[in-house]
Amino acid sequence: MRGEDVTSETGTVMTVRGPVPARELGFVLPHEHIYCKLRHADYRYDVPDQFGDEDLMAEEVSAFAELGGGTIFELSVPDNGRAPERLVALSERTGVHVVMGCGWYRSNYYLPEERIDRRPAGELAEELVREITEGVGDTGIRPGVIGEIGSEKTWVSPAEERVLRAAARAHKATGLAIGALHAVGPVAPEQLTILEEEDADMSRVAVAHCETYPHLRHLLGLLRRGVYLMFDNCGQYRGMGEFEDRILDLIRELIDRGFEDRLMLSHDICKFGQLRVHGGTGFVYLQETFLPALAGKGVPEATIATITRNNPRRWLAGS
Ligand SMILES: [Zn+2]
Repeated sequence: MRGEDVTSETGTVMTVRGPVPARELGFVLPHEHIYCKLRHADYRYDVPDQFGDEDLMAEEVSAFAELGGGTIFELSVPDNGRAPERLVALSERTGVHVVMGCGWYRSNYYLPEERIDRRPAGELAEELVREITEGVGDTGIRPGVIGEIGSEKTWVSPAEERVLRAAARAHKATGLAIGALHAVGPVAPEQLTILEEEDADMSRVAVAHCETYPHLRHLLGLLRRGVYLMFDNCGQYRGMGEFEDRILDLIRELIDRGFEDRLMLSHDICKFGQLRVHGGTGFVYLQETFLPALAGKGVPEATIATITRNNPRRWLAGS
């Protein structure tokens, strides 16, 4: 397959405004959505199409920058509203680096015209490689990561398996990382087996939504396969009693067991009500609330810096 290693200049990542040295990313939110649409999926009748307002989104993203934020990984794909040119404008306006995703999200969101179930994995991979190396359409705007992709349910559907194989092949051809791997409940091991069968570099794979199956043995099993774990629903446990405290303890436990260099934290902002203007946590919950709480659990600042700065960089750009 034709391809080009876009991370080959060691430690460079592709942002929507072009390549940036990885060391310049600063504090990273590795799994968010800025311009995002979910409502076309059958069961998402309750979610308004959000983020159409560019002034509003600039305000939300600027709040993150004002607290020292440097980079947002915008993991929307065409299935859920990715908007490359608007991301460039937002990045120019706010000064925040934006790394854009690519791929196909999960079964309920695949668009009929994408014909995922009618095209072989190799053809899908070729499409990804073309976009990664040449840019989206004729915009020249290039993705910097493959994702968000994954599974609708607690199993992998045939079409989702095809997307995972295509992602692994595009990853091998271009050097881009894979993630966030959308996993709810215990499906991640099955997803990882598919990526392993395709000989993906598992140190460049990140499993999302680890809070949805917060069992230590399960998470240690994933870590043994070499991947990163994302606790990327930070701020979404408000109103869930002691759940956030339990997640903080779980993260602390994983750190104590030596996995601080395999963890990432984010908010996965994707719904209207998560924005600050609507009373949600916005892109600042980590900086304002979650990380101070993690420090309160005895996690040193240096470890928090590893998790919020070094790990996303290493996942994306390679070591
Ligand atoms: Zn997401």
